[in-house]
Amino acid sequence: MRLAVTDRCNLRCTYCMPENVQYVKKKELLSFEEMYRIVQLLSTMGISKIRITGGEPFLRKDISTFIQQINQLEHIEQIHMTTNGVLVGPHLTNLKRMGIQSINLSLDSINPKRFYEITRRNEFDKVMETFNALLEMGMPLKINMVVMANKNEEDIIPMMELSKDHPVAVRFIEEMPFNGSNSQKPMLALNYRQIIERIQTKYHSLLKLKDGANSTALNYRVKGFKGSFGVIPAFSRTFCGTCNRIRLTAQGMLKTCLYDEGVINLKKIIRSGTDDEEIKQLLLKAFNNRPANGFEAEAKRTLVSNSFESMSTIGG
Ligand code: SAM
Ligand code: SF4
Repeated sequence: MRLAVTDRCNLRCTYCMPENVQYVKKKELLSFEEMYRIVQLLSTMGISKIRITGGEPFLRKDISTFIQQINQLEHIEQIHMTTNGVLVGPHLTNLKRMGIQSINLSLDSINPKRFYEITRRNEFDKVMETFNALLEMGMPLKINMVVMANKNEEDIIPMMELSKDHPVAVRFIEEMPFNGSNSQKPMLALNYRQIIERIQTKYHSLLKLKDGANSTALNYRVKGFKGSFGVIPAFSRTFCGTCNRIRLTAQGMLKTCLYDEGVINLKKIIRSGTDDEEIKQLLLKAFNNRPANGFEAEAKRTLVSNSFESMSTIGG
């Protein structure tokens, strides 16, 4: 389960949100008590792995206490986090105590100028500090890079070099249309196959690694490299058959596919006093009606405007 704990963010990645993004009102966000109740309920139904995401998770006040609390739940076995890294510094020593087992750090360029052009904020140094600190403390680490034609293509190989010297998994993600703007652009100009080809041209022999049963990444290693790399066909959607993720947005919408528009408004249901058993039945129904793939989910969207929401409300 991916849990977006806030829609607020301290960066403005162009592929994720417009500069003047409209945040939802505070009272429209799930409270910690509401999130806890949903996680607890889902944990009794088979959810054992949670990814904390957002927006930027560390912008949510008291997030560390909340994570510690869900880590105490009987059936929760793994907690992971996706973060842009800017605010991680003060929490470094506390991450393990919170129960966080690994971090996905978003980094779309290792060139400060391009980083600024993509994120519209001058925070490159802080992210790199976080990267180095996490490596030093031995935190299992993945780097998320959204690959965009004409924007950060030149970063593919330098990013690969991070996995040469460090035990990190670099993941190249196809850009999706969830940028909160009024167009369905971008059209994918660089797909996962082309990304692999670029890497192969440079490094020749790539070892295919065994992908986890529900992995959304195709994973490889270059011989002699300490780390690995993966490509995520997030727009091509070749992994839908084995994906087992569910998502809870910051406003409390349950999504059984990233491309659906939300299948249950859990906030509304909770706030109207529905009891746990009834909620469980609704959840089961939603899981049973899960679309076959992201294309089917997208086709069912009924939102009148043809815009896609910002990924900051979904959590990636
Ligand atoms: N703020 C945190 C971060 O950036 O890591 C967590 C939330 S962010 C929405 C989660 C992930 O979604 C990030 O790795 C980000 O790069 C990815 N993402 C956001 N918008 C995307 C898009 N339009 N297409 C592909 N990935 C996207
Ligand atoms: Fe913020 Fe993450 Fe979206 Fe970038 S990708 S704007 S860091 S939520």
